[in-house]
Parts: sequence; structure tokens; C-alpha cells
Amino acid sequence: MTDQSSFGVFEQVASIITKSKLPVVCGHIMPDGDCISSVLSLSLGLWKLGIQAVPTIDWPIPSGFEGFPYVQDISDFSQDVSQTDLLICVDSSTKDRLGRFEILIDKGLPSVVIDHHTTNTMFGEVNWVAPEFSSTAQMILRLLNFMKVGYDKELALLNYLGIATDTGFFRYSTVDETVFSDVAELVRLGADPAFVARQVLERDRVEHLYLKRDAINNLELHQSGLVAVSYLRNDSFVRYGIREDEFSGFVNDLRAIDTVEVAVFVSEDDKGNAHFSLRSKTFFDVSRVAQDFGGGGHKNAAGFTHTCSEGFHKALEELLQVIKEQLQS
Ligand code: AMP
Ligand code: MN
Ligand code: MN
Repeated sequence: MTDQSSFGVFEQVASIITKSKLPVVCGHIMPDGDCISSVLSLSLGLWKLGIQAVPTIDWPIPSGFEGFPYVQDISDFSQDVSQTDLLICVDSSTKDRLGRFEILIDKGLPSVVIDHHTTNTMFGEVNWVAPEFSSTAQMILRLLNFMKVGYDKELALLNYLGIATDTGFFRYSTVDETVFSDVAELVRLGADPAFVARQVLERDRVEHLYLKRDAINNLELHQSGLVAVSYLRNDSFVRYGIREDEFSGFVNDLRAIDTVEVAVFVSEDDKGNAHFSLRSKTFFDVSRVAQDFGGGGHKNAAGFTHTCSEGFHKALEELLQVIKEQLQS
């Protein structure tokens, strides 16, 4: 199912969801704006249809999103989900991205996957995977429109959040005419773009800048400036009291260097796991590299997580070698 205008897809997904009594709407671990937006917009939309959807993400919500409505209603796996009859997975390319909710897939609970990642493994019973969409939030808007959900200001705001953040605030190559017409509709319905930009982009603590200073100290250029790499070990995050998943923007600073095609930023959590964020500017497909290391994503933005407390620099070297080979092929 990849045709974004196909009526059949909407009908199939909508009919499964409306038959459900208690669907769990589940986003991915290390949630970003698109994930939070998709979970909450779909849940709110279903509440408006009288369906008792449960919004879930099995990970702490980064503090930058606390100013958005209903964020405190998102629960992790400690919520009792024994009565649920459907798992709706949003913005998640593989089942391990669901955290502990993965077990519901393994147990054979009916499931619907709604996602825009090219690397999606189609792990649901029904899979609506459409990489032509800028964001999963844009897919949710289309689905809720098909289901004739009436939008209020809060739903419009939450739905706008994911489209804005996953397009880098309307800058990436995924931005086409449909993005602008869809967000125009959401702004008409009450979404406030300036509020979203302020919440997401202008609420850093000064410690975020101190972390950037450390990351700049670790910056290296490779392949005549085509590849930029930096990292932060866990001690930096501990020093400044910021969780590693709350510091996500630096890889974009690396990509912004004019000679750079591929940017890599690695952050280490308190268990020694290293999260690799990959970005490319134009031609290089970072999702293929991320997949080689067990992750996934899109052509210009991808990632993976590596358990490598003793081999942090070894993993980075292996990755750089793969990037070098692909640049030369
Ligand atoms: P990030 O660098 O964490 O912002 O992620 C960039 C893109 O890669 C997003 O679309 C993520 O969904 C995807 N991604 C990041 N980490 C993983 C992972 N461990 N497995 C699959 N996809 C990932
Ligand atoms: Mn996401
Ligand atoms: Mn997304």
C-alpha cells in the first residue's frame, strides 16, 4: 500500500480502527515531534469519534514538548493494556522501535502500521507505509479527514507539530505542494506556527549550549570535508544534567557546514549505548548505511543504536569506513 491518494487504503485502515473498542496508539522510543504529534492527533481524533484510544510511547517525553496539550496523557508500558484489541503503530519503522509494546506484536494482537519510513519492515497485520509523505502526521491528517473528524484548535496544533518538525520547519526535500496545502488547512483550523516554532526551537537551556561547545571540541572533518563527525560521551550529559535524548539538534549543525554531504553525531547514554544520528544534504542515502547497522530512517535522515560501551570509537571507525566506501562507489 503505497499510493497516497488511494481510497482503498483509507477505507481498510479506517474500518479496522472504527471496529476496535480499545485501540492502543503507539509511537517510537526516543520520540521526536512527528511521533508525539502522530500519537496525540490520532488519539484525539478517535476520541472525537467516541473511540477510547490510549496514547502511548514507551520512553520519557523530552521536556521541549511539555508545553503541548495532552502530552501528560501519553502513558508508557506500565499502563494496563490487557483489554486492548488493536495496536496502531505510528512513525515506527520496525517493531523494536515500540519499546516494550513490541511484545503485543509478538503475541499476535491485531495491528495497523501507519508510517512514512522507506525502511519500514511491514511488521503489522495491515501496513499503510507511504514514504511519499513528509511525516506520519501528514498521513494522520489525511486519515482523520477521511474519517470525517472535526478539528478544533488543539487537534490542529498537535497535527501541525509533526509536519513542521519532520520537514525541519519546511526546509527539507520532502516538502512539496501537499505539505503547504495541508498545513494551510491546519493553520486555518487554529494551529499557531509561531507557538510551535517557539516551543520547539527557542526553549534551550544554557546547558544545551555548553553541550554544543563540547561537541564542537570533538568535531572532525573527513574525506576532504565531505563528512563531518562529532560525539558526546555520557559524562558530558551528566555534567550538564541533560538526558542524551534531549539533545538532538547538533547533527543538523554539522550538515550545515558548506562542504559537508554526510553528517554523523553520536551520543552515549548512561548504559553505554551509543545513538548514531546520520544526515545527508543531497545525494547520499544514509538510510542504507543505518540499515547495515540495524537501524533505519529516510534518505537524508537516519539513525541506529549500538550497544558498545567498550567499542565506542571502533563502531565510529567502522561506520566511517562504510560511508567512505559508499561515497567512492
Ligand atoms: P534521529 O537521528 O534520531 O533524529 O533519527 C533520524 C531518523 O532515523 C528518524 O526518521 C528516525 O525514525 C530514524 N531512526 C533513528 N534511530 C533509529 C533506529 N534505531 N532504528 C530505526 N530508525 C531509526
Ligand atoms: Mn520519528
Ligand atoms: Mn516521522
